[in-house]
Amino acid sequence: MAWFDTFDRLIQARVPLMHVEQDAPMAEHTSFHIGGPAKRMAFPANEEEAGAVAEACREAGVSCLVIGRGTNLLAADEGLDYVVMNMTAMDAVRVEDGGRVFAQAGAQLSRVATAAQQAGLGGLAFAHGIPGSLGGAVTMNAGAYGGEMCQVVEKVTALGPDGVYTLSGGALEFGYRHSVFSSGTDVVLSALLRLTIGDPVAIRREMEELMARRKASQPLEYPSAGSTFKRPEGYFAGTMIDQCGLKGRTVGGAAVSEKHAGFIINKGGATCGDVLALMEIVQETVFEKFGVKLSPEVKIVS
Ligand SMILES: Cc1cc2nc3c(=O)[nH]c(=O)nc-3n(C[C@H](O)[C@H](O)[C@H](O)COP(=O)(O)OP(=O)(O)OC[C@H]3O[C@@H](n4cnc5c(N)ncnc54)[C@H](O)[C@@H]3O)c2cc1C
Repeated sequence: MAWFDTFDRLIQARVPLMHVEQDAPMAEHTSFHIGGPAKRMAFPANEEEAGAVAEACREAGVSCLVIGRGTNLLAADEGLDYVVMNMTAMDAVRVEDGGRVFAQAGAQLSRVATAAQQAGLGGLAFAHGIPGSLGGAVTMNAGAYGGEMCQVVEKVTALGPDGVYTLSGGALEFGYRHSVFSSGTDVVLSALLRLTIGDPVAIRREMEELMARRKASQPLEYPSAGSTFKRPEGYFAGTMIDQCGLKGRTVGGAAVSEKHAGFIINKGGATCGDVLALMEIVQETVFEKFGVKLSPEVKIVS
């Protein structure tokens, strides 16, 4: 029996109301608009359904990729022959006592930041323009303009093979675009953020200023997955790529952005193969000129 027959049977028996798509195009679930079909894409609406997906994957012997809003992903053209657990249906956001905000993994980060701002809670303005989900941001320790998720995460509730557990922020092994969840298979379900009391008007102004800086410097008019490469110690990837004369370089529909060389953009019809070939050209050229090996920040999934 094919793995997906076993998976479908288990899901049907245990969580029949959960939304599951067959052959869901990754291009429609990623900001790059690239990627072939995921054999199964499940949209758990609560912790029990997320647990059922993970359990069914284990029993069917198939791997499971957890995604949020797909804004840091480059998915293979030929598609994904396994289960994708899409967290976007778990999107509750709640302001709590003591300067805290609770959010489920699939909540849009901008919505979490706006809820905090409206409640007069500061410390999350940096995250307002990051287009991912709360779960993706915790996993990647997303950051911008001097702020990082590690500064605000008080605790995370996650799902592992032994069930649901909670970790404090200090136990999350946060590093540059890294957390304890980056390389594992556990699922971030929700997080509690600890923020600081502030003036809603001033926080709103800060959010607007940061968004204006973003719009001025980033190619937001094209599909992309944000910065293609991690910032190498002591350098800026975009500056090095620019100094190699690579702005505007294309492979198929993929191009090094003219506006920000750190972004590879989809100018129309780019394939995963196009982006990977362009990334290789960039890496080789930068290495020849600077002796620095750029490593991808985008997660390549196949
Ligand atoms: C225009 C643009 C601008 C960007 N600017 C920034 C920026 O300023 N700073 C920055 O840090 N990033 C930036 N990014 C990248 C991206 O938005 C962040 O990395 C974001 O945190 C990813 O969230 P996501 O929900 O889209 O995650 P996805 O892309 O869906 O997934 C990213 C990784 O996290 C894992 N993951 C996602 N959700 C979960 C979960 N619930 N549990 C366990 N693992 C999970 C996935 O398996 C994958 O490995 C930008 C992207 C774009 C397109």
